[in-house]
Amino acid sequence: MREGAGWFYARNGSYSSPTISVIRARTSTSNISASNIFYVYTSSLLRFHAHCGPLRQVVKPMGDPTAAAELGVAPPSLPRQPHWVKTMELGYATGGDSSLDPENAVVGPGLTFACFKCGKETSELDGKHLSRCAKCSTVRYCSRECQVTDWKGGAGGGHKFLCAAYKRIGEAMTLTSADDKQSVCEEILRRVRFYACPYVVHKTATLGRGFLFLQSPSTLAELSLPLPRLPTGSPIAGQRSVLLHYLTMGEFDSELSRDDFEMAQVRNELKALVKAYNKRYDLVLLMRFRCGHVAVGSAPLVPDYAVCVSLGKDYYSEATEGALQLNLDDV
Ligand SMILES: [Zn+2]
Ligand SMILES: [Zn+2]
Repeated sequence: MREGAGWFYARNGSYSSPTISVIRARTSTSNISASNIFYVYTSSLLRFHAHCGPLRQVVKPMGDPTAAAELGVAPPSLPRQPHWVKTMELGYATGGDSSLDPENAVVGPGLTFACFKCGKETSELDGKHLSRCAKCSTVRYCSRECQVTDWKGGAGGGHKFLCAAYKRIGEAMTLTSADDKQSVCEEILRRVRFYACPYVVHKTATLGRGFLFLQSPSTLAELSLPLPRLPTGSPIAGQRSVLLHYLTMGEFDSELSRDDFEMAQVRNELKALVKAYNKRYDLVLLMRFRCGHVAVGSAPLVPDYAVCVSLGKDYYSEATEGALQLNLDDV
């Protein structure tokens, strides 16, 4: 397995990734223990709910330019998608320690499948007892009854809402097309942006221009699933989370790319974006996943700068000197 594939960290903060060690070193110099950081999310979530009232009031008048002007916010514009400037594959997912590693996912006698509805198990050798969903050819059921029930009202609102996501990773349990990878990156961003945007606005104000470094110990394929459940029917081991960190270009050079030289390949693109972004509208983003997929780009602030300033002060001033972990199945 290649260096850099050690994408696992423990709740006690004993990170094995060189990059994540950087974060640990930074957090341990503050008076926050590493384990506290993992729980910052929970308190942020509670405060976010407390903010939902005022937040809705600000967002709603934005549809009316007059009300928006009175509130001092920019007139509404069409929602913009993230803009990607570079992606690359570092090819980490060859080690066999990920539950979705393609090498381990080869269908064979060692792999058991469970009915997606009732959990009845079988091995692929006598897999004739389980039939696959005709649309995604991926998820299996023990009976027509289980399939019909799961389609309309199973976990996650029913398989009809999940079928496309399972079809996307298929039997091989991996994402192959660049478009699919981009879509999944955007989906992940959508799930975390209410936390990430205030975090970045707050960090930009306190540390100066920089970028959001989003990492995950999960593969992109794992993160693409709407439920923490593999196509085999078994749950994804461990929590699906992303670790957010804000870095300036100085920190990129002195810490990140020094410890992880492969990241130097995105330095030029990152530097240009960090120099150019408008802190009232955009954030700069570097994403990296367990499978080695790396993406660099910029994304709009959501819902807007003023709200992000307000949320950012309240959430992040006291306890997030280092990184912020968000558990995707909770957000
Ligand atoms: Zn069943
Ligand atoms: Zn299906």
